Amino acid sequence: MRLFILISIFVLFFVSYKRKSKTDEKQIELPWIRGEKTPVNKFMTIVGAQCGVTEQEIFNLRQQRNNIDETLWHICNKCLLENQETSNYENLISIYLFMERLSISMGQNANSLIKRRLHFELLQKKKDGMPLAIIISGYDSCKACRELDGKEYSIDEALKIQPLPPGNCTCLRCTCSYS
Ligand SMILES: [Zn+2]
Repeated sequence: MRLFILISIFVLFFVSYKRKSKTDEKQIELPWIRGEKTPVNKFMTIVGAQCGVTEQEIFNLRQQRNNIDETLWHICNKCLLENQETSNYENLISIYLFMERLSISMGQNANSLIKRRLHFELLQKKKDGMPLAIIISGYDSCKACRELDGKEYSIDEALKIQPLPPGNCTCLRCTCSYS
């Protein structure tokens, strides 16, 4: 009987604790300026969670920067350095993907970022033991990109010459990829 009471008390305590921690979680709503929460959420989905960045960290850094884009760009660069050291290709690819979006939203061409991302995609393929890289260009790609569609390279060759995006690519954001 005593044991039963003890267990009941423990269960009650546990349930109320869980409830409390849930409401605590809800209370942590950071006072983002209008329009900043959306890019922060995107960053957290694409980069933040897997690179161990918290929303609180972004918020703190935001206070020292001019705007949210600049803040996220700064954090991306920091994450790049950390992941380059550990050669975490998956994370590097995600960081570049986010930086490409950011660059496009600021009206800048993203092809130099795309080149770097594709470099890590090739390294990932090599790590996975895939022998070939076949170019697939997008349906809305420029002429230079469409001309490369279907071309095959060995992974090492592709790493050496980095055919994507081609030098004469006129896409704002080259959507070519390796399969
Ligand atoms: Zn192109």
